[in-house]
Amino acid sequence: MSFTRRWAELEPIGRASSGGYRRFAWTPEDASLREWFAGEVQALGLDLTVDRAGNQWAWWGDPDSAPGVVTGSHLDSVPDGGAFDGPLGVVSALAAVETLRSEGFQPARPIGVVNFVDEEGARFGVACAGSRVITGAMTAERASGLRDGEGVSLGEAMQRAGLRPEHLGRDEETLRRIGVFVELHVEQGKALATDEFDAAIGVGTAIWPHGRWRFDFPGEANHAGTTRLVDRKDPMLAYASTVLAARQAAERNQAVATFGKLTVEPNGVNAIPSLVRAWLDARAPSETDVQALLRELSAEAEALGATVSEESWTGNTLFDPELALRLSKTLGGAPLLGTGAGHDAGILATAGVSTAMLFVRNPTGMSHTPSEFAEESDCLAGVDALTTVLRELAA
Ligand SMILES: [Zn+2]
Repeated sequence: MSFTRRWAELEPIGRASSGGYRRFAWTPEDASLREWFAGEVQALGLDLTVDRAGNQWAWWGDPDSAPGVVTGSHLDSVPDGGAFDGPLGVVSALAAVETLRSEGFQPARPIGVVNFVDEEGARFGVACAGSRVITGAMTAERASGLRDGEGVSLGEAMQRAGLRPEHLGRDEETLRRIGVFVELHVEQGKALATDEFDAAIGVGTAIWPHGRWRFDFPGEANHAGTTRLVDRKDPMLAYASTVLAARQAAERNQAVATFGKLTVEPNGVNAIPSLVRAWLDARAPSETDVQALLRELSAEAEALGATVSEESWTGNTLFDPELALRLSKTLGGAPLLGTGAGHDAGILATAGVSTAMLFVRNPTGMSHTPSEFAEESDCLAGVDALTTVLRELAA
């Protein structure tokens, strides 16, 4: 089976001792993945093009003859990420195209398979960099100036990989070629595995609104041994109660809220902190619920002396509702579900492309960890679903 062979070939590339993957944009591992993709494209008899951001596109049929039906995903990973997030969509796309070609299908519109570069933003800090650049959601100037932990800029890294950073920018030619985009992805929660749905495949309807906020809790540095409790201005207490309040506010507002990163000054075991700085990530199916959560939590934190500032906000991203319904029907009533995770599909939808997603069941719901998993039978059901969808949309 073409899926299984491809999956096995990808398995060793960028695998770390943890069992997870370290596949970061414009590294030697990324080059191996891009080379592998190019080889697959050639073996299938498709035409390979590379756009202004370095995303790879494989075309079946002349991409300038009509707006195409495009599928695909990304091959990069987060640090010690799982095998499925990204590669499942690329491998399924190649397998679906192979099936259609072998059965003699004649597409009435060009069919494209994309490998988006740098979806996770693990190296340069901005997720979906490849799709953001070609849609103009991120300027060429900002993109090429992004730096990794070693101080290497994205522009330099592209150049070292043999690409031309001076070409970075919104790519009208590429955008014109995307008539519709369907991204297949492993589900990053476990809705499909619950009794409510119990289905191998679901159809995405939306990406939840989400944002990041910085909370600064000021205090007063002092000796941990000699400062009486009554004399302390310890910001860690305000931070701790804000973490608990975030959990309660999330429960009240049908949202999720996470403090996953914090810095402490001066960061000494025997010093009362002078500052605790923490970042909140909050998401929910509805914008008003995220905003209500933030309002309530900000009021509580500010009453404890904190200042709260917004670092990013993305409103509700709706995929094409008619397309979602149509795909659900085509796939025998596949359940419709929203997701709390970002994707290149969301960037394209925001740019006005008719977009849908297919999710493949993830029995534990774990993602961005080596334990991310999907059963092979569900992966194969995903290939079948994608084949059906491409056959219908390109007919
Ligand atoms: Zn992904």
